[in-house]
Amino acid sequence: MENFALAQATGTTRPTFWKIGLLGEAVFYYLAAVAVLIFAYGVYDRFSRYTRGDEDWFDRLNDLPGRISRAAKVVVSNEKQFNRDLYGGLMHSFIMWGFLTLLIGTTILMIDMDLWTKGLGRESFFRDAFYLSYSLVMDAMGLLFVVGVGMAIYRRYWVRNHRLWGRHTSLEDDLFIWTLFLLGVGGYVTEGVRILGTDFPTFESVSFVGWFVADVLRLAGVSQGAAVAWYPVVWWAHAIPALVFVAAIPYAKPFHMLSSFANVVTHDEKAGKRLPGVPSDAGPEEIGATDIDSFSWRQLLDQDACTKCGRCSAVCPAKASDRPLDPRNVILDLKQYREDLDAGRTDEKPIIADGGDSVIDSRTMESCMACMACMDACPVDIEHLTSFTDMNRRLTESGQMDANVQDAMMNVFQNGNTFGDPGRKRPEWTDELDFEIPDARDEDVEFLWYVGDYPSYDERNRRVARSLATILHETDVSYGILYEDEQNDGNDVRRVGEEGLYEMLVEDNVAAFEECEFDKIVCTDPHSYNTFKNEYPELAEEFDAPVYHYTQVVEELFRAGRLGLSGTELDYTVTYHDPCHLGRYNDEYEAPREIVRATGCTLDEMPRNRANSFCCGGGGGGLWMDFDENPKPSEERLREALEDTDAASAVEKFVVACPMCMTMYEDGRKTGDYEDDIEIVDVAELVVEALGVDERVKVSA
Ligand code: SF4
Ligand code: SF4
Repeated sequence: MENFALAQATGTTRPTFWKIGLLGEAVFYYLAAVAVLIFAYGVYDRFSRYTRGDEDWFDRLNDLPGRISRAAKVVVSNEKQFNRDLYGGLMHSFIMWGFLTLLIGTTILMIDMDLWTKGLGRESFFRDAFYLSYSLVMDAMGLLFVVGVGMAIYRRYWVRNHRLWGRHTSLEDDLFIWTLFLLGVGGYVTEGVRILGTDFPTFESVSFVGWFVADVLRLAGVSQGAAVAWYPVVWWAHAIPALVFVAAIPYAKPFHMLSSFANVVTHDEKAGKRLPGVPSDAGPEEIGATDIDSFSWRQLLDQDACTKCGRCSAVCPAKASDRPLDPRNVILDLKQYREDLDAGRTDEKPIIADGGDSVIDSRTMESCMACMACMDACPVDIEHLTSFTDMNRRLTESGQMDANVQDAMMNVFQNGNTFGDPGRKRPEWTDELDFEIPDARDEDVEFLWYVGDYPSYDERNRRVARSLATILHETDVSYGILYEDEQNDGNDVRRVGEEGLYEMLVEDNVAAFEECEFDKIVCTDPHSYNTFKNEYPELAEEFDAPVYHYTQVVEELFRAGRLGLSGTELDYTVTYHDPCHLGRYNDEYEAPREIVRATGCTLDEMPRNRANSFCCGGGGGGLWMDFDENPKPSEERLREALEDTDAASAVEKFVVACPMCMTMYEDGRKTGDYEDDIEIVDVAELVVEALGVDERVKVSA
C-alpha cells in the first residue's frame, strides 16, 4: 500500500529525505554547510601555503585553458595509470569514473532540490524518464566504483603489492581506501533498504544493484516494516561519513584529487631535460635548497600531489641497486618536514647535508643518476629532478659535494674536460685515422660535429669516434670538428649542481660555435645532444642551431641511400640499450634501431626497452662516484640482455649509442664476469663493420 501511496505522491521518482523529517533535513543541511566550510578552508590553507614558496622560474600558468584541457584529457583517460600497469589503470579508472559520476549525480540532485524546486519554485525534473536514466547510470557507475575500490583493497592487502608499501605508508592510506569502500557499499545498502521499505516499486528495478540488495535483505528475513523503521539509521550512517569525507579531503590523502590535477595543469613538458636556471642576482647563501620555502610553489605542490603509488620507486635504478635513494621517500620526506615545521613538531634544519641532522642526506641525492625514469613513471607529473637539482646545488654551494665529483668538476674548470688532460690532447683520437677530419674553424660545413669528452679522451670511446668519423667520411657528409676549442658540454656538470661552471661552459662553447660557419650540430653523446637542444637556447639566445644525435644523422643517410647498406651484411643477434638522454629525455627510440636492423643484425629487445629503459648508472655524476651497489645497474642490465630477451639464439652484442653507457657497460662486463658472454658495441661500430671499411680505422685495441 505504501508503494501505491508513494507512486501517487511522487510519480516515477524517489522521495528525497524519506523518513528523515524536517528536523533531520535541517540538521543535514547544517552539517553539510559545516563540512563544505571546513573543506573550503582546508583547500584555501593548502594553496595559500604554496605561495610561501619561491617563485617558479617558468610561467606555468600560460595558456591556462589549453593546460586545463590537456590535463583533463590526461586525468579522464587515466593514460598514465595504464602505463605499464593494466590492473592499476583499470582500477584507477573504475574508481575515478565512478566517483566523478556519483559526484555529478549528487550535484544534479542538489540543483533540482535546492535550486530548481525550492529556490525557483519550478516543478522537479528529478522524475520519469530523467529519473529512470539517472538511477540506471548512477547504479552502474557506482558498481564500477565499488569494483575499483575492491581491486585496490585486493592489491594493497591481499597481494600486498610491494610498490604500495613504504616508509610513509600510514593510517591515512587505510582510512582513505576503507572510507571509499564504506561510502560505495553504504550507498547501495541505503538504496536497498529504501526499495525494500517502499515495497519494491516496479520502476526501481532500474536501480539494479539497490534492488539486488533489497532482495538479499528480504531473503535474509528483513521485513518491509523493519526496513522502514531502520531506514533513517541507515541513511544517517551513510550521510555522516560522506560529510566527514568531504570535510577531510584537504587534510589527508584524498587531497591528491585536487593537488594532482593542479600538478598536471602546471606541468612543464620539458621538465628534467631542461633544468631551471639560478637567478643572476642570487648570492651563495641563496643558491639551491636553502630551506623548505626556497623550493618553488610548484615544487611544494609536487610534494602534496604525491599519491604514494610507488611507481617512481619501482623503476628507480638507484633503489634497485641498493643505493640509498628512493624517489618517493625524498618527495614525502620533504612534505613531512614542511608539515612538521609548520605545526611546530620539529625545529628548522638544513634540507640537505653531508651526514648530520638534515632532511635529506647528501648520499641520497648523490645516488640519483638523473635518468628521469621516476618522472616518466609518475602519474601526477611530479618533477623530481627540479627539486633534486636544487638540493645538489646546495651541496655544491656549501662545499659538500662528493670528492670524486669535485675532482671531475675541477678538471672541467681547469682543462675543459672531466679527465684533467690538457685541451691540446683533445683531438689526438684523430691521429689513427688515415684521413683528415675537416676543421670547422677553417671551413664552412653542414654539420659541426661536437665529439664530446669521452670520445675524445677515453681509449674505448675513441674507437667509437673513429667509427663515426669513418661513416661521415665514407658518405661524403660535409662536417668538421672544433679540435682543441671544444670543451665539456656541461650537461652532467649542471645535473650535479655546478650551475656556475655550467654557465661558463655554455658561454665558452657558444663562443666557439660562433667562430664557425655551419648549419647543424651533431653530437656523439646524448648528454651533449640534450643540453644543446633543450638548455643552451635558454641561456644563450643567439644559439639556435638545430641539434642532432649522430644516430639521427646516420639514419637519414641510410634513408637517403647514402650509407650503402643492403641490410644483410651482418648476422649477429644483438640487443639495443636506450640511453636515458636519447630515449626518455628526447623521445628518440627508432633511429638507432633502424640503423642496427640496416646492418642485417637480428635485434632482440630486452623487456625494459624504450621509455622503460634501465639506466646504466653513469648519469647524474654516477660515472665519477663509487657506491656499494648490489647489483651494479650495468651488471643487472647485462644479465637482462643475456637472460630475459626472447632471442632464439643468445644475444652476442649489447649495442649502445652513448659514450657513458659504453664506459659503464664495459666496466659491468668485467665486474659482472660477462666478458666471455657478450660484447659491448656502439651503433657506429656496427655500421662500420657492416660497411666493411674497418681498414680506414686504425683501431688500437
Ligand atoms: S632520476 Fe633515476 S636515479 Fe634519480 S631518482 Fe629518478 S629514477 Fe631514481
Ligand atoms: S612521486 Fe609520483 S610516482 Fe612516485 S609515489 Fe608519488 S605519485 Fe607515485
